[in-house]
Amino acid sequence: MSTSGDSPSIFSRIVAREIPATIIAETETVIAFEDIAPKAPVHVLVVPKTEKYRNVVELAAGDPALLAEVVALASRIADERAGGEFRLVFNTGEAAGQTVFHVHAHVLAGGLGEDSLADG
Ligand code: AMP
Repeated sequence: MSTSGDSPSIFSRIVAREIPATIIAETETVIAFEDIAPKAPVHVLVVPKTEKYRNVVELAAGDPALLAEVVALASRIADERAGGEFRLVFNTGEAAGQTVFHVHAHVLAGGLGEDSLADG
């Protein structure tokens, strides 16, 4: 599935409460909700409310403070749900598995040992 070019994006529609999601945290600029198809016991998406940035490279260049807010909220969620240890994934580009072109971080935690990138 590709939602490239959709506007408003599916995540903007979640921000606007036009479609349902299990929202677990929200600030003025960032929202976090459960991934609808979890790949780990903890799988939360942390999303800037603006859909101005399609991916993390654009976000880092355009608004590094907002990227830092995404990381801070991811860390807070991992503190609350997984003892503070987590994997943060930004799929960037279709070939890398990105399907929603509204920048978002996957916060993954719990039971990650078997396929850990750190295992080499
Ligand atoms: P990506 O493939 O990195 O673009 O990630 C998009 C993620 O959004 C996938 O993990 C989907 O399962 C998730 N997703 C798509 N639609 C929804 C939705 N309505 N609510 C929650 N998560 C969603």
